[in-house]
Amino acid sequence: MRIDIITILPKLLEGPFSDSIMKRAQERGLAEIVIHDLRPYSEDKHGRVDDYAYGGGAGMVMRIEPIYGCITSLKAERDYDEVIYMSPDGELLDQGASNRLSSLQNLLILCGHYKGVDERIREHLITKEISIGDYVLSGGELAAAVLTDSIVRLIPGVLNDETSALSDSFQDGLLSPPVYTRPEEFKGWRVPGILLSGHGQRIEDWRHEQALLRTSERRPGLLDSD
Ligand code: SAH
Repeated sequence: MRIDIITILPKLLEGPFSDSIMKRAQERGLAEIVIHDLRPYSEDKHGRVDDYAYGGGAGMVMRIEPIYGCITSLKAERDYDEVIYMSPDGELLDQGASNRLSSLQNLLILCGHYKGVDERIREHLITKEISIGDYVLSGGELAAAVLTDSIVRLIPGVLNDETSALSDSFQDGLLSPPVYTRPEEFKGWRVPGILLSGHGQRIEDWRHEQALLRTSERRPGLLDSD
């Protein structure tokens, strides 16, 4: 899978993909993540990509021309399954959306700044708008990193132990049960005995029970969503 990300702050996106699972996915050739600096696509001699909002008011707006130029040149290289704009008023990201996107081949993600991008970009060039939550960030980069991470870790072969993605929260519509590791006891705080019993089926049943309990306590809405 290939993910292209358009940004005015490419440095902000170097970190999230250069370690751990995201790094390994790229080294294994399972994901190719390519960051594109928008500024060289600006015809302005200072590389400006924003301008005042028509109608006045506070805040700058990202201009059409550089974004159009960048998206068009990328589209000339390959067909994109989705051209995504990160936006607080987009479709709220959830595990189901990440699962669906992880089965695609080519994604293009546009990061906004300032008051956002000229609406005509959204009308004519964007196929999907995604929000990572009901709060406002200063730019789309962190949101794009969250989206990319949530997608890439679902690509088969990226996680070493495949079942570990399958047993994550939301994957089966439930939150994860609690997990423990050594030591068995720390300052008198004990690991639940069942996990030390060696009884595979009972452990599975206990985990399922705990997942249900945790979901009904913390996110009851997940239980009646289907
Ligand atoms: N004026 C806009 C917010 C702009 S914030 C509004 O009120 O809707 C600047 C940029 O940050 C946006 O263009 C978007 O790309 C990104 N952004 C901010 N919050 C986000 C969120 N919750 N999810 C995804 N992207 C977000």
